[in-house]
This record gives sequence, structure tokens and C-alpha cells, in this order.
Amino acid sequence: MDFDVVVVGFGPTGATLAALLGQAGVRTLVVDRAREVYDRPRAFALDHEIMRVFQNLGIARAVLPHTAPFTPSEYYGVDGQLIKRLGSIDPPYPLGWPPNLVFNQPAIEKILRERVASFPSVEVKLGVSLESFSLPEVKISGERILASCLVGCDGAASTVRQQLGIEYEDLEFDEPWLVVDLVVGDSGLAKLPQVSVQYCEPSRPCTYLIGPGAHRRWEIMLLPGEDPARMEKEVWTLLSRWLSPEDARLWRVASYRFHALVAREWRRGNVFLAGDAAHQQPPFTGQGMCQGIRDAANLAWKLTRQNESLLRSYEVERKTHVRRLTSTIKEIGRLICERDPAAARARDMRLLAEAGGDVRTVPRQSLIPPLEAGFLSPIPHPANGTLFPQPRMADGRLLDDVAGTGFRVFRKEFFNNTQGAAWFERNGAIAALVRPDHYVYGVARDEADLERQKALMEKALQ
Ligand SMILES: Cc1cc2nc3c(=O)[nH]c(=O)nc-3n(C[C@H](O)[C@H](O)[C@H](O)COP(=O)(O)OP(=O)(O)OC[C@H]3O[C@@H](n4cnc5c(N)ncnc54)[C@H](O)[C@@H]3O)c2cc1C
Repeated sequence: MDFDVVVVGFGPTGATLAALLGQAGVRTLVVDRAREVYDRPRAFALDHEIMRVFQNLGIARAVLPHTAPFTPSEYYGVDGQLIKRLGSIDPPYPLGWPPNLVFNQPAIEKILRERVASFPSVEVKLGVSLESFSLPEVKISGERILASCLVGCDGAASTVRQQLGIEYEDLEFDEPWLVVDLVVGDSGLAKLPQVSVQYCEPSRPCTYLIGPGAHRRWEIMLLPGEDPARMEKEVWTLLSRWLSPEDARLWRVASYRFHALVAREWRRGNVFLAGDAAHQQPPFTGQGMCQGIRDAANLAWKLTRQNESLLRSYEVERKTHVRRLTSTIKEIGRLICERDPAAARARDMRLLAEAGGDVRTVPRQSLIPPLEAGFLSPIPHPANGTLFPQPRMADGRLLDDVAGTGFRVFRKEFFNNTQGAAWFERNGAIAALVRPDHYVYGVARDEADLERQKALMEKALQ
């Protein structure tokens, strides 16, 4: 074999996967038909799980200057009243990083690519396309390469998925929106809201998002009969409620269908799908890229170990998680996209009644489900499949910098004097068995339980 793994696509999913494989010394080839990072922002938000992956790759400190805190998202109803609010929990943060950040996608992709280039076991070929494959043979721009595994991180129009004939399951969300990115000057910034806003207005639902620095995004629903190409030209008319052309520079305007699609299969033999190639979801809550990076982090340690039961768990774990989160995102989308004024008023009244008249902040992180199935202990416990916390240790360092990222048994006494001790109290546990991607395999209530859990995990790994 020329390579253990060929990664097709050097977007955020493929770059994260290649970096994690490179860090583990796996012989990897990553290819992309484009030579450069796509220079416009698409993904807008990332979360603490992703920052922890970046930390483990040694790039979190380089990434941070290209991020900013994600301001709360306030939802306003038909009569302009506050009906819902998403925001953050207060510090100390359970995973060691702010739960939600906005970021500059091109800058972070460049940092990821530089990290990939630093690993000697990874070769990068840009400006070349995957043409066909029948493992171990992979044809890339006329060149024949032999590889044990192939991962399609090749985006929504994935060649890998299409060549396998794998269809998307349609989770029934399909709305045309205009996405507008502006770099706003001081005059404009003074006029704009200080938090992110969902205008849940039946006449034209839209979203206003505060990005890092002077970056602001509007996502504007297109109405039936509106021609997307013509509406792209009308962008300043659509924005006139907030700004005029002298207030800002247009960075990007694109019409884009907000879909909810999940590939029916994520693995065939030694070929895997990850990122947008495997799923697409509407951007409400900003989880699209996060989902791809979760796929990469989930698959990387399983490919590294080449263990069949681990590899089998990839599709079960990630597909269930993506479906669950996508249905939550769809519910939020349905709230925002209501076009019938009477139904929108009923929605507002229902949300206000549910809030008991006082709209509290719902932490965005509470929307993210745990892993529900896969490589998890068969002994049920609510902590199974959740992310193990990353407290700051007594000496100020973060847990992963002290303890690394292999399979770990963490004992309660290790966490004395840190916020991690509370996790064990809450879960009635003396120890936790934690996977390399920081998901909890199982917890032990006593020493006998710990031995039983270890034996179960070792057996499952055979
Ligand atoms: C308007 C918009 C808003 C979004 N907002 C958010 C958000 O707020 N938060 C969020 O997390 N996500 C968001 N997303 C989604 C996010 O941009 C994507 O989920 C993310 O970029 C997908 O990463 P990826 O690496 O899986 O795919 P991509 O970034 O699409 O990368 C795929 C790569 O594969 C390459 N490729 C394709 N075919 C081949 C081939 N045959 N051979 C070689 N190379 C190939 C392509 O050139 C490309 O570089 C948004 C997307 C859009 C469009």
C-alpha cells in the first residue's frame, strides 16, 4: 500500500481528520481539487468540543485570535416582543473553553492546513481530483494509488458518496435563503443590535449574527416566486432596514438552500463518509461544521487502531447523533420560518406561556445530544456517551495537557481541588472510563464495578 488512508477533501472536516491521523503517525494522503482555502466565510460558529479537538492538535492558541464570543441569540415575534433567547452558561466552562464562539472560517482552515503540513506521515496534493476508486486502487487525476481506506470528506456534492450510489435520506427541510456577509464600518456598527437576533416575522423571517471584529451576517429567507439570482442583486434593498451601502463593505452574498439531509450509509467496507458528504443541516444554531469535525474526531482514533468493532461503531454513533441534532435544528427552523401570521402569533403565545412570562436564556449547549449508541458500556448510566469535562487542574493547566488523550480511567481522587470533582459527585462515580475522543464509555460506582467495566471494554475492543 502507498497509504493507510486517503482523505478526499481538504475542507475543515478533511483537514481535521488528516491532522489527527498525522498526529497518530498514520500514513495519509489528503487531496483536494481546489488549490487554496475557500476565501469566503461559510460556517460561522463553533463550540467547545471543537476547541478541545483544536487544543489536542496543538492549534487552539493560534485559533483563538480568529474567534469571538457568540453573543446571545434573541428571538423576536410578530409584534417585536422577545419570545426566546439562546445563550451561554457561565464559567467555569465544563470543557475548558467558552461553549460557543463565532469565527473566521478561512483563517482557521489555514491554521489547520499548516498543522497538517507539519506531520511527516501526511502527504498533501492540491489541485487534483478523485476520479474513481475500487479499493485498494484509487485514481486521482490520472495517477493510480494503493490505499487501505478512503474517507470522503468531499462536501455536499461528494464524488465518493455518488460513486458508491449512496442516497441522502431527506429529513424534510428545504428552504431557500440569502446569506449576506458584511464588513461593517463604525457608522454602521453604531446602528446595529448588540446581540444576535432572529426576526421571526412572517412577512420575511431573517437572522442577524455578530461575527468576530466587524464581520456581520444576515440570513434572509427568500419568499415563494423570488428569483435567487435577482434577490442577490437586491441585497442593499433587503438590508435597508439596518444599513446603507456607505456603512459597510459587501464580503459575500449567496443564495443557499437550507437542507436537512443524512446519507443512508456512512461506510461501505473500508470507505467512509464524513462532514457535509454525509449530512447537511440548516445553519440555525451554527452546527454544520461542528458536525463534520465531530465525525473526523470520532473516526480518526478508530482508523488509527484499525479495530473492526470500533470502525463499525462510527456510523452508529455519528448518524444517530446527527439525526437527533438535526431534528432539534429543524424544530428551531420551523419556529423561525413560520410564514402564516395567525400561526406565528400562536407560536409567540405558546413560547411566552412556556416561559411563564419570563424568557430565560437557554444554553445553546443544552441542544447538543450525547452519543446514544455505539462503543459505550452496556451497563446503563446517564453519563455514558456524554463528554467528559476538562477542568483546569490545581496547577492551572487544562486536563488534556496533563493527561493526554488515549483511553483513560480517571479516578475521582485525581480531581481533588478542581471543578472535575463535582462531576464524580453528581454521577455517583469513583471512576470514569473515557475514550480518546473524550466521550465517556462508562462509569464505575465502586472498585468491583470498575473491574467489570474494564473487562467489558477490553472484550469489546477484541
Ligand atoms: C451559507 C452557509 C452557512 C453556514 N453556516 C454554518 C455555521 O454557522 N456553523 C457551522 O458549523 N457550519 C456552517 N455551514 C456549514 C459549513 O460551511 C460546512 O458544514 C463545512 O464547510 C463543511 O466542511 P466539509 O469539510 O465537510 O466540506 P467542504 O468545506 O465543502 O469541503 C469539501 C472539499 O472537498 C473538495 N472536493 C470535492 N470533490 C472533490 C473531488 N472529487 N476530488 C478532490 N476534492 C474534492 C472541495 O474542493 C472542498 O474543498 C454553513 C454553510 C453555508 C454554505
